[in-house]
Amino acid sequence: MLTQNIDGLHSRAKTKNVIELHGTANEAICLRCKKVYPITTMINQVLRGKYAPSCEECNGLLKPNAIFFGEPLHSETLLAADELIAECDLLLVLGSSLLVYPVAFYPRKALSLGAKLAIINIQETDVDPYAEIVIHEKIGSVLPRIVELVEKKLNSNNN
Ligand SMILES: [Zn+2]
Repeated sequence: MLTQNIDGLHSRAKTKNVIELHGTANEAICLRCKKVYPITTMINQVLRGKYAPSCEECNGLLKPNAIFFGEPLHSETLLAADELIAECDLLLVLGSSLLVYPVAFYPRKALSLGAKLAIINIQETDVDPYAEIVIHEKIGSVLPRIVELVEKKLNSNNN
């Protein structure tokens, strides 16, 4: 799963294979040695009056491990996302208007590699005409209904 969210909710929900394209605000990273800490390490330093929180290893400056405006995305993250897109048979676009790159590029890439596309988003997207299924509603109202229908179908097949 690819996400642009930085809130870490997909990981906390135990979603498997989450690639957080824009990093996570639940961690801090040292700008010098790249050591990663829980965000609480950084917060606790600030609460103790250290307004330039620093790395315990190298004294480099800590920042939240989310991609800030103007920062490049991590290359290893982009490579992992490219691999997922190359492997997928069906790409579900959930709650994205596909206006921010690189996410905006992934549906076209998946289509060019033979995958099908399904889009659930409140607004239209540029790739709506190429999708097998397009639903213009909030994912919060549509996804539970889809899950319910799939569960019913699975249960009826098992009986
Ligand atoms: Zn460091």
